[in-house]
Amino acid sequence: MRALARSGSPAVAELVAFACGSTTHNTAALLRGGRRETRTYPAGVFLYGGHGRRILFDTGYAPQPWRTGWRGALYRRLLPPRIGPGQPIGEQLDPATVTHVVLSHLHPDHIGGMRYFPHATFVLAAGAARTLRQPRLRDGVLHGLIPSWFDPAEAIIADEFSPGPFGLSTMDVFDDEDFMLVDLPGHSHGHLGALVSGRLLLAGDASWGRDFLGDEARIRAVPRFISYDYDELQRTAELLLRAEANGVTLLFSHDEHPTGVNLL
Ligand SMILES: [Zn+2]
Repeated sequence: MRALARSGSPAVAELVAFACGSTTHNTAALLRGGRRETRTYPAGVFLYGGHGRRILFDTGYAPQPWRTGWRGALYRRLLPPRIGPGQPIGEQLDPATVTHVVLSHLHPDHIGGMRYFPHATFVLAAGAARTLRQPRLRDGVLHGLIPSWFDPAEAIIADEFSPGPFGLSTMDVFDDEDFMLVDLPGHSHGHLGALVSGRLLLAGDASWGRDFLGDEARIRAVPRFISYDYDELQRTAELLLRAEANGVTLLFSHDEHPTGVNLL
C-alpha cells in the first residue's frame, strides 16, 4: 500500500504505476531482425487519483490457477504468465477505494484483476463490448478470467471520440479534462489509452514497448495476425510518435515504470 492507496482523493492529481505479474517473449519471434533474447514484459497497471475519483487503468494478471481450458493453455504457451504472492493488483492496493476501472482491452494481462473490483464502475470501448458478446479465438478473450458478476450493460461504454490535443481522438468521459480516454485502435477491437493531465499518455498495448514504436513494419506474421487491425496499429503508432514529439510522455503497459512514486 502506498500513498495513493489511502482512502479519499488527493488535492493534486496523482498517477502511480504497479507491475502485476509479467510474461516473457523472444524479441526475434516478435520482430524481423529482432534480437534473440527473451525479454520480460511486466503487466502494468496505473492508478490515477484526482477530482474525487480513483481510476484504475487495467488490472494486470490474475493469480493462478486460471481454469480457462484449452484457450488458456494456448495463451500460456505463447506468453507464459508469472504472478507471485503480493503481485495481483488486489494485493497491492485497497480495492474498495477504487471508483472506476478502465480496461484498455480484454487480453488476459489486462483483465486478470477485474475480480477485485465488483463495486467499481467499469469503462471499456464499444469494440471491446462487442468482442465480449461475440469473441473469436484470435481476440484472445479468456472468459474464465471475467468475473460472473461483470455486466457490460452496467459499464460506461466509450464510443464517442472527438478531435483532442496532439491530433488524438479523445473522450472526456469524466468531464474533468484531466483523465481523458484516447482512441488507440489496432491492437485489439476497441483499444483505449488515457491522456492524464494533458502530458502523460497511458498507451496500453499500442506497442509492445516504447523502443518498438515505429517498427511496426517489422512485426512478424503471428503477432501481426493477433493484432486486430494492422493498418490501424501503424496509424496509431504515427499518432503516438507525433504526440511524443509535442512533449507527451508515452507509458506503455509492458514497459518498466517506477512504482511507488507519483509519475505526474
Ligand atoms: Zn494486448
